[in-house]
Amino acid sequence: MQPVVSREGGGGEEALAELDDDQPPDSAKFQCMPRLRQMQSSRSPKSESFRARHFPSVSDEEWGDWRWQAAHRYRKLADLEQVIELSSSERAGIERGGSMLPVAITPYYMSLLSPDDPTQGLRRTVIPTLHEFVRLPGEADDPLGEDSHSPVPGLVHRYPDRVLLLALDYCTTYCRYCTRSRVVGNGELNASQARLERAFEYIRRTPSIRDVLLSGGDPLSLKDDKLDWILTRLREIPHVEFIRIGTKMPAVLPQRITPQLIDVLKKHHPVWMSVHFVHPDECTPESFAACARLADAGVPLGAQAVLLKGVNDDVDTLRELTHRLLLMRVRPYYLYQCDPISGSAHFRTTIEQGVELVRGLRGHTTGYGVWTYVVDAPGGGGKIPLQHQYVLGRDGDDIVLENFAREQYRYPDPEAHASTGMRPMRLPVVTGA
Ligand code: SF4
Repeated sequence: MQPVVSREGGGGEEALAELDDDQPPDSAKFQCMPRLRQMQSSRSPKSESFRARHFPSVSDEEWGDWRWQAAHRYRKLADLEQVIELSSSERAGIERGGSMLPVAITPYYMSLLSPDDPTQGLRRTVIPTLHEFVRLPGEADDPLGEDSHSPVPGLVHRYPDRVLLLALDYCTTYCRYCTRSRVVGNGELNASQARLERAFEYIRRTPSIRDVLLSGGDPLSLKDDKLDWILTRLREIPHVEFIRIGTKMPAVLPQRITPQLIDVLKKHHPVWMSVHFVHPDECTPESFAACARLADAGVPLGAQAVLLKGVNDDVDTLRELTHRLLLMRVRPYYLYQCDPISGSAHFRTTIEQGVELVRGLRGHTTGYGVWTYVVDAPGGGGKIPLQHQYVLGRDGDDIVLENFAREQYRYPDPEAHASTGMRPMRLPVVTGA
């Protein structure tokens, strides 16, 4: 039994109630709990009610088993129709098929989707629509030019000291905005020993590589022993210092973060993890527990999100996501401008909006919670950070600055400092500020 604070009658009075760990609270009670208490609950009420309705005979063990979840993914129109009311655009998008990547959604993640609102943020990220078939100028299947920076299949070497190793092309749930939609889900990039050995060999004979990002597809889709083997082979290379795993599992299949997986990760420390979350609705008690297991095992967690139109492109949603991630011991890290992959126009905001959104967070939330907003430069130029210009310019011997509340301040910074030999900043001249 765990004490839980509940509010009754909407009057703000707080009372301690007892919550049985085995019984999820009902939805109304859950919504009234403070954020941290919600996330510390054992299970999400939304998931429990979905499971009661669609999988009444499935046991706790089965529902909590990631292999069961992976085996029961929603992939076909007929299956989806059993649980959600599809819009005409969704139905046509699924029927047309053959698009950039397949449809697959774990039962757990499906339980978080609105069954009747096609505009719900999470639903838009995993259910295709006809918009995917609209191609605009500037879009490309491989906008980041990864294929041209690939010395061996499944390895991208763009920065001098880092490589991206694509372990496999499989994900348990496919995101409609995926940068690698040209490769994920088509079964061509498997975790075969022969292919991966070529990648290890390249890394071994390139001593400048000190950082390996293991991604995919989702590398945590691999069985424990395969992941263990990959991490062992990487750790055998003396100049590989830093290993990161990029995954969306804590959001789409938190059941994957098992004690056995934790044992594998702990063997190969330091292992960092970039976890992919895009919306606060993903930050459930199940995700909270998964991230807690990783954090307790000493895995530093950083979040990567993609800015998506109609999903998280407003300050309130982004702030709520940020606050929930901080409670989950996940530090918000990169907020990506959505890459111009083919058929992505319905997801892409303007860059100006992205800059303004992050500006709306800075100073209004914990400093740890301010994302670095980046554009991954089309053509393979790498990540370019973007932010509001807080340095307004120079006025004589002062630098004129703007704070989070949009007020102006001056910092004495005589131009004479340039005589120290440092190149002076090129700033616009402002007067009377
Ligand atoms: S989890 Fe990552 S790799 Fe998989 S579909 Fe989503 S964005 Fe793409």
